[in-house]
Amino acid sequence: MLSSSSRRTVALLVLGVVMAAIFAADTLTDYAVAAACFYAAVILAASRVLSARGLVRLAALCIGLTGLSFFLTRFGTYRIGLVNSAIGMLVIGITTWLALKMEAAKAAVQDAQARLLRVARASTVGELTTSIAHEVNQPLAAIASSAEASQRWLAQDPPNVDKARQTLARILADAHRASDVIARVRGLTRGAVPERQGFDLNQALLEMLALSHSELEQHAVTLSTQLDDALPPVFGDRVQVQQVIGNLILNAVDAMAEVPAGSRRLVLRSWRASPTRVAMSVRDHGSGLPLDAPERVFDAFWTTKSGGLGLGLSLSRSILEAHDGQIRAEPVADGGACFVFELPIDGGGPHG
Ligand code: ADP
Repeated sequence: MLSSSSRRTVALLVLGVVMAAIFAADTLTDYAVAAACFYAAVILAASRVLSARGLVRLAALCIGLTGLSFFLTRFGTYRIGLVNSAIGMLVIGITTWLALKMEAAKAAVQDAQARLLRVARASTVGELTTSIAHEVNQPLAAIASSAEASQRWLAQDPPNVDKARQTLARILADAHRASDVIARVRGLTRGAVPERQGFDLNQALLEMLALSHSELEQHAVTLSTQLDDALPPVFGDRVQVQQVIGNLILNAVDAMAEVPAGSRRLVLRSWRASPTRVAMSVRDHGSGLPLDAPERVFDAFWTTKSGGLGLGLSLSRSILEAHDGQIRAEPVADGGACFVFELPIDGGGPHG
């Protein structure tokens, strides 16, 4: 599997060969054949791999080659050659300008999306605040009571050092639990620069579940997981994928708020969807999706919640599509909703 830098080198080599072919065609054919116009296709293709500066240099080279062909061509009417070469140069110039505009627009969209992601990520973490505070508070309360107990063991006459040592070990374990929660939250609120690498999808889900634990408990949601232990690592940005999982879990909890506590079941599954893809599903037994147009839930700003942004699912879809993955809502027989998403395995997709 080629890395992105070697793919770029191969792409540039191919473009180089195409340029040489255009130059040969432009030089060896009649003045009436305006082969130089094909440099426009080279510019468009190169705009995907070159920076703005690189693209301008390439355009200058194409214009230079067009001029050189014009001087070297031996056949046809000189005046037609002059007009055709001028047209070729103009086409190269206009194409370069359009390609630069297009790339700038793409960068602006990416930038806006990264900013939206940050907002949505902050709101995911915000929604989990109570849960996170609870997760940290529990070990802290346990530390305080163990410390009191150990003071009592040491105050005895003679001091019960063994018991005090055991209590200290519990304190240490609880302190680690608290700092693990903090580390997970910090991981989630990390900068917005995507970092793609192979990672264990089940592990990423379990971490999100650890953060949502008391959220689920508080809403009396019964959780069951059916995770395939033999899953290969998937390729992508772990934090962004965790954000997708977090959105789906929080949506499921919201959707089950109206159903009786005993029926609030959340089922999480993972499995190998194909030789190159891994799938995960988040299935709830809540209110279900709108029957008339279930796909609407993926529209940006479409929400049925009073404080909702309507961005969670649309951003989740963008994140997964940017990973060569996908997300869909699957019909379920006995009420509720089921969201399934897929990701390429590490080394199995075009990015791997
Ligand atoms: P928000 O949660 O801010 O509304 P989302 O994009 O995450 O934004 O969801 C959009 C809408 O899709 C929700 O308001 C809700 O009506 C619907 N929806 C999402 N998940 C579920 C679900 N699990 N069950 C039922 N409806 C859902």
